[in-house]
Order: sequence, then structure tokens, then C-alpha cells
Amino acid sequence: MFDLSGKIAVVTGGNGGIGLGMARGLAAAGASVVVAARNAAKSEAAMRDLESRGASALAVSVDVTQAAEVARMVEETVATFGRLDILVNNAGTNIRHPLHELDEADWHTVIDTNLSSAFLCCKAVYPVMKRQGAGKIINIGSMMSIFGASYAPAYAASKGGIVQLTKSIASSWARDNIQANAVLPGWIDTDLTRRAREIIPSLHDNVLRRTPAGRWGTIDDMSGIAVFLASPASDFVTGTAIPVDGGYAMQG
Ligand code: NDP
Repeated sequence: MFDLSGKIAVVTGGNGGIGLGMARGLAAAGASVVVAARNAAKSEAAMRDLESRGASALAVSVDVTQAAEVARMVEETVATFGRLDILVNNAGTNIRHPLHELDEADWHTVIDTNLSSAFLCCKAVYPVMKRQGAGKIINIGSMMSIFGASYAPAYAASKGGIVQLTKSIASSWARDNIQANAVLPGWIDTDLTRRAREIIPSLHDNVLRRTPAGRWGTIDDMSGIAVFLASPASDFVTGTAIPVDGGYAMQG
């Protein structure tokens, strides 16, 4: 039910953090993984990490905000592995300012990286998945898909948008046997949140206090949901947004 042998997964931002945690899960279940991100050295290291666990892996340099580069990422994947079964839209960034202090350029950077990238990648993989008669799309949202944050208006808008984009493609492509779901991580210890903890000194304790599990998530906490949503176990699950948050979202 959870076997991904012979499946090919593309994980954007798979060279670290949540993307690498998901890539490790997919690899452990038998998938070959394409690590797609900008920093080539980091992607090579992630590729070696996956290979050391017995998986086939490929590192592809891509800026997911650029349609031509996204098209090349899909071409390179299909040229190397002959197919593409699973897309994880995980690449993301945050620029933290209240709206009245947020530059227009920074707004566009966050929306392009977190939301428009998912549009571009989904559109690019659709013909391949349709031809194959099946596909799995996993879009990474956030607790800010649900809640707002005074210091992250562009990020919250992008992550709210991810959930609605997911529902729309899930509805549109269900008859093509393509399932699309969003994952809403709670507070996970990664480079992104390490930077946030430097900027907001109270964040660490607030997360511990507010998270029923009483701890930060690790990147390995993200592996299981990726396997579930990429595998036949979730063939009748589509258009959902699943929190993986130690209970953060269940209480007011
Ligand atoms: P990281 O900063 O560790 O990872 C971000 C990844 O995105 C990197 O691999 C980076 O690679 C890649 N990336 C960024 N911009 C681009 C781009 N333009 N093109 C291609 N790749 C890009 O952060 P996280 O692991 O924490 O974040 C991963 C996702 O999870 C994001 O969408 C984030 O919003 C989301 N998330 C994280 C939470 C957390 O608590 N950590 C909570 C909720 C959601 P490179 O720089 O090499 O391009």
C-alpha cells in the first residue's frame, strides 16, 4: 500500500529542511528522487544523502519562479528516469515585515517563490501525469494557511493561496487520476525557522508553549505524510489540507 518502487518524485527545495525530510521518506519507500533547487552544492549533498540510503537520486538546478527553468526540470527528469509520478511543491521563502513596511519587490518574491512556483510546476507536470494515467501532487502550505501573522502578510497570503490552488487542481484533475493535497507543517526546525528565531527572540518559547506536543518538529516528522500522499494508500484522498503540527492548529 505504501510501496513507491519504480516511482519518480520531484521535490522542489529538496536540498534541505522539510523537502529533504520528505525526500528521505519517499526514497525509503522505494522512489527515485529528483532534488530540485538553486544551490547546486547543497543539492549534490542531498543527492548523496539519498544515495547513501540506497535510493536513486538526481540533482537539478532550478529557480522555480522561472517557467523556462521549471520546464527544463521536468524535461531532465523524464529524460533521465522516463517518467514523473510525484511532485512535491516545497520550495519556499519568507520576508518578515508588517504590510506597511513590506516592499513591493519583497511581496512579489514571496508570492512568486511560494505560490506562483506551484502553479508553474503543476502546469509543467500535468501533461506527463495525464499521459501516464496517474499522478500525485503534494503542496506545502503552513499554519499560516489557516492563521494570519502581523509580520508575514505575503507569506500568509501565499500559503492561503496554496490551499485554494490545491483544491482547484484536485477538482480539475481528479478524472485524470491525479490526486493533489496540501500539507500544513507546524513549527519545524529548519534554516527558515532558525532565521525566524534569530529575528523574533520570543518565538522559540512561544512555539513550545503553543504546540501540544511540547516540541518543535524535525524534518523526519515530515517523511510519513509524504509517503502516504504519494502512495496508493491515498488514492481516494484529494483536495485536502493536512496539518502535521504536533497539534498546533487544533486549539484556539
Ligand atoms: P528551508 O529554507 O530549509 O528550505 C527552503 C527550500 O526552498 C530550500 O531547499 C531552497 O533551496 C528552496 N528554494 C527557495 N527558493 C527557491 C527557488 N526560487 N527555486 C528553487 N528552490 C528554492 O526551509 P523549510 O524547509 O522550513 O521550508 C520548506 C517549505 O516548508 C517552505 O515552503 C516553507 O514555507 C514551508 N514551511 C516551513 C515551516 C517550518 O516550520 N520550517 C512551517 C510551515 C511551512 P535553494 O536555496 O538551494 O534554492
